[in-house]
Amino acid sequence: MLSITIIIALIIVTQLYWLKRVYTLEQQQFNSGVLKSIRGLFEDVKISDNPAFQIKQVVEITDQNTYLVKLDSIPNKDSLYHNLSNEFEDFDVWTDCLVGVYSSKKNAFKYQFYLSTVGSAYAKNAIAPLTPLSKNYDYLILHFPYRSNYIIHEMLFWIITAVLLLLVLIGLSVSLVYLYKQKFLNELQKDFVNNFTHEFKTPLAVMKIASDVLIQPAIVNQPGRLIKYGTVIKEQTEHLQNQVERLLKTASGDNKNIIVKKELCKVNELMQHAIDQLEPLINNKDASVHFAADEKNPLINADRAHLELVIINLIENAIKYSNGSPYIVITAYSDDSSMYAISIKDKGIGIEEKNFKFLFNRFYRVPTGNVHHVNGFGLGLNFVKKIIDAHDGKIVIKSVPGVGTEFKILLPEK
Ligand code: ATP
Ligand code: MG
Repeated sequence: MLSITIIIALIIVTQLYWLKRVYTLEQQQFNSGVLKSIRGLFEDVKISDNPAFQIKQVVEITDQNTYLVKLDSIPNKDSLYHNLSNEFEDFDVWTDCLVGVYSSKKNAFKYQFYLSTVGSAYAKNAIAPLTPLSKNYDYLILHFPYRSNYIIHEMLFWIITAVLLLLVLIGLSVSLVYLYKQKFLNELQKDFVNNFTHEFKTPLAVMKIASDVLIQPAIVNQPGRLIKYGTVIKEQTEHLQNQVERLLKTASGDNKNIIVKKELCKVNELMQHAIDQLEPLINNKDASVHFAADEKNPLINADRAHLELVIINLIENAIKYSNGSPYIVITAYSDDSSMYAISIKDKGIGIEEKNFKFLFNRFYRVPTGNVHHVNGFGLGLNFVKKIIDAHDGKIVIKSVPGVGTEFKILLPEK
């Protein structure tokens, strides 16, 4: 995204640079056209006594639009008009010109006329007459009021090409971004379907085996087994139910704007309760979970049920993403920054820093070669983030691949 913006910016700069170059070139071309016309005029009309004159010596460009030409004798108005229009035509000067001939004796213009080009869009009388510049010699003044417009008009082709090129580029980059997004979504969908299948296949397979046992006629005489397999089916059904609920909640965007009901809760109790709920998983994975309770046992202002789910999700991850028997340290303490901190630290597989920014996205799971070794939908941290945001809190991640991960939640105190 950034690189596309940079490329477009570079292209715009280059385009502007070229347009500027073309503008200068057009200006030069206009200038040389006018000078050539003036030289032609000297050949047509008798206005200089010196046949070997240098054009630069007699012409002064007072401002970009005005040329002042020193005269030795004052030409006849009609012949000036006629010859000047011919010269302009010959040297491609196609813009209106206000012409004045100044007589130093009278200290005023002898005459002025407006030379409009064929098909000129400008009105003759829209231009104020020339004001004489006091000089001690006679001169001819050529004023081009619409010179800039004319030059820009000459550049129209370049401007249109530049704009078109830019539009094409923007269109191209928009479609690129769109394509890229589409591809990303497709991959996300593929991952999700894989995770989904995996999440549901295992419990269903277990349930099928259990029910196979339960339909054996001999089971009636073995109440112990009956209860055991019945319980298996019940547990798996509950698990499935939970997963479906979680998915439905996310899909319907139920928890988009989570409403948190804050109340004062005892941190230690809340944490212990969360850990207790994970007892089966902790035993199953042979995990050791150390909770260093805050001796002050403070009260924090939070939504008890939601915060508990956050802690559960983080501990669950810490257990899930550890190899062997997980070792987890949980601490709760007052941070110096007037925030209350809850830290969950594991010695698990870790996360590469480049993946940090995606962790809280819906359905995101760190792409490892063997993702389905561990079950999950990639919804846990998304939920965690939403809850902590609703509490105006912060989440800090520290992780070193192969060493371990720490998720620290910071909540505003009170
Ligand atoms: P779910 O929580 O929805 O069952 P999940 O655990 O894959 O699935 P998240 O909890 O959102 O989803 O985590 C997203 C990803 O972040 C995980 O797939 C995992 O790759 C990575 N991750 C999260 N916590 C840890 C951790 N403590 N150590 C290493 N990786 C982690
Ligand atoms: Mg998780």
